[in-house]
Amino acid sequence: MGLDRKKTTFSISDLANRIKAGDVAALAKGITLIESTLPEHAEQAFFLIEKCMPHRVESVRVGITGVPGVGKSTFIEVLGKQLTQMNKKVAILAVDPTSTISKGSILGDKTRMEELSKDPLAFIRPTASGESLGGVARKTRESILLCEAAGYEIILVETVGVGQSEVAVHSMVDFFLLLKLAGAGDELQGMKRGVMEMADAIVINKADGDNKKKAEAAKSEFARALHLYPPKPNNWIPKAVTCSASENQGIFEIWEMVTDFAAQTKKEGHFNKNRQDQNQNWFLQAIEDALKSDFYQDQKIKSRMAPLIDQIQSNKISPYKAAQQLVSEYLSGLK
Ligand code: GDP
Repeated sequence: MGLDRKKTTFSISDLANRIKAGDVAALAKGITLIESTLPEHAEQAFFLIEKCMPHRVESVRVGITGVPGVGKSTFIEVLGKQLTQMNKKVAILAVDPTSTISKGSILGDKTRMEELSKDPLAFIRPTASGESLGGVARKTRESILLCEAAGYEIILVETVGVGQSEVAVHSMVDFFLLLKLAGAGDELQGMKRGVMEMADAIVINKADGDNKKKAEAAKSEFARALHLYPPKPNNWIPKAVTCSASENQGIFEIWEMVTDFAAQTKKEGHFNKNRQDQNQNWFLQAIEDALKSDFYQDQKIKSRMAPLIDQIQSNKISPYKAAQQLVSEYLSGLK
């Protein structure tokens, strides 16, 4: 056992070294370890992350969201190619809530970003799946850290706007970009509450051909709507712009906006403050997750659950009282 542990420790250190050296196969293996649900892998993943943490490059993390068909993969392919041509290393990760709900995947099923996937400066990781959104989000955050240790200075995190996935992605990026299509004129109709507030930029894609005029009109409407929100604490004024991913129009300007954002918020200290706040939230979230999982896995708690639910259903005890009773039993078991 002792020997085994030593061996594992050694191989994880070795894996960390290879990741830090930019070995793509090692990075992929590291992320697989993070995504694994086996308890022994969880321990190894923690160790790996610890080893990689101090060696990360300075990065910009950008979240990209939009409904299926809006052009996310086309956009990312074009943007990614531009960035790699500038000799930047780009990692593309995804949070795909559909895979946790339907077991199918909106993001993963088709062949996506064909050119970028052959680019040696790009790393594309298909989505983790088969877990709760919280679980997938945590794994994506940890994968970001490994990518940064491997020298990827631009991290693009993609998601479809399903459930709470936008909130999850927003909580792990510096800049949040919302891709939209020009609609039938009433652009704000059907916008999910809160998503507008999270956006640092609203990008109307497919501004080409007959659609160009409509896209410009949509841009104006979004610009007016964004104007009505109170200023963000980081002093950034969200922008509405148009682009055509398939014709490579406006993409470079969008990247310039992201670099402007990074320069401005770094200068004023908000960039780091946001990352610190995110770290604090992840810390609190991790505590909550650990406590919850320990509670629900406790044998005594498991056996007490069904009878208490019965009592609640037959109005013998209130849900609140039952919960308090169970938590007290759990806590006294810890002493
Ligand atoms: P995703 O589901 O959001 O990843 O969307 P895709 O990138 O797969 O694009 C969906 C469809 O829209 C594809 O047929 C693309 O070729 C097309 N598309 C993407 N961007 C543009 C664009 O800027 N203009 C036009 N006209 N079509 C586009």
